[in-house]
Amino acid sequence: MKAAVLEKINAPLAIREVGLTELKVGQVLVKVLASGLCGSQLHDIRGFKGNAQFLPHLLGHEGCGIVQEIGPGVTHVKAGDKVVMHWRVGLGIESPFPNYVLDGRTISSGKVTTLSEYSIVSENRLTPVPKETPEALCALMGCSLTTAFGILNHEVNLKFGESVAVIGCGGVGLNLILGAAMRSACPIIAIDNNENKREKSLKVKADAFVLASGDGWGESLKRLVPEGLDVIIDTTGHPGVLKLASQHLSSQGRLILVGQPPPGESIEIPHALRLFDGIGKCIKATQGGQTNPSQDIPRYAKLYMGGKLDIDAIVSHEFTLNQINEAFDLLRTGEAGRVTIKIQET
Ligand SMILES: [Zn+2]
Repeated sequence: MKAAVLEKINAPLAIREVGLTELKVGQVLVKVLASGLCGSQLHDIRGFKGNAQFLPHLLGHEGCGIVQEIGPGVTHVKAGDKVVMHWRVGLGIESPFPNYVLDGRTISSGKVTTLSEYSIVSENRLTPVPKETPEALCALMGCSLTTAFGILNHEVNLKFGESVAVIGCGGVGLNLILGAAMRSACPIIAIDNNENKREKSLKVKADAFVLASGDGWGESLKRLVPEGLDVIIDTTGHPGVLKLASQHLSSQGRLILVGQPPPGESIEIPHALRLFDGIGKCIKATQGGQTNPSQDIPRYAKLYMGGKLDIDAIVSHEFTLNQINEAFDLLRTGEAGRVTIKIQET
């Protein structure tokens, strides 16, 4: 089967013929239909995750597939199930690391990967969904949508009418704006250094868009919400952006870090004493929005089926597996919303 393989750090992925191995306890063979691309995979390609030692390896952690075969002990999914492939741990067995065969040699991979025609996945990285759930939504529910909604639900406990700023309006950022609008945040400010995110952000119901060029966006934020923001969520991981964001929190402000700073970077907090204002401000790094896939994914799927979740404005581009490097190049430009990869037909 065909798979996108990271063979060298900072090099394009190679589309290679990769062999499958026999399923071990808790493993599931999934035919992959679609995958989303995440900024986190750019970190993989740059070798930021200590992953150079595991090369060559497969990539991707949000996808949609159909279960082909289950390994010993698997009880939560069965052959024929449509599944969301996710990186957060849900119900079922935590399997051993999957193995594949490349150039006659065995390689190992993460517990879930999605950029291949078939994938061996740990049972607890799969959640079944109704057959009619769209593939793009399934892919989003593997990471970007569940992370965004999880942050709002579990980590910032967003209240009606609280003000929210989202910095970086890519896949997670647009889902955050969408979720904040569904939770009646007011106002919702979208911030990005790319003008073409204006329309996308307003489409998912941001109240205002601020073009970030230099440090001037801090002043714009102050003009729009003089009392400071109740919630600021950063998806860029840029230390300079975080430094500035920390100065615009309200007295109950929560600053949530979604984008990861590069390894070894520091974040400066000017006027740190002001963190003690009000009820005490909070700076928190998210862990996938504390998403519980087995509980959260069925709820979000139901929301979509009920016509209350509109993802049309989130997915901006679709590529095939053969175009994977083109897709990553687009992701690097910062011009895309969520990029999805169509892997196979059902
Ligand atoms: Zn992700």
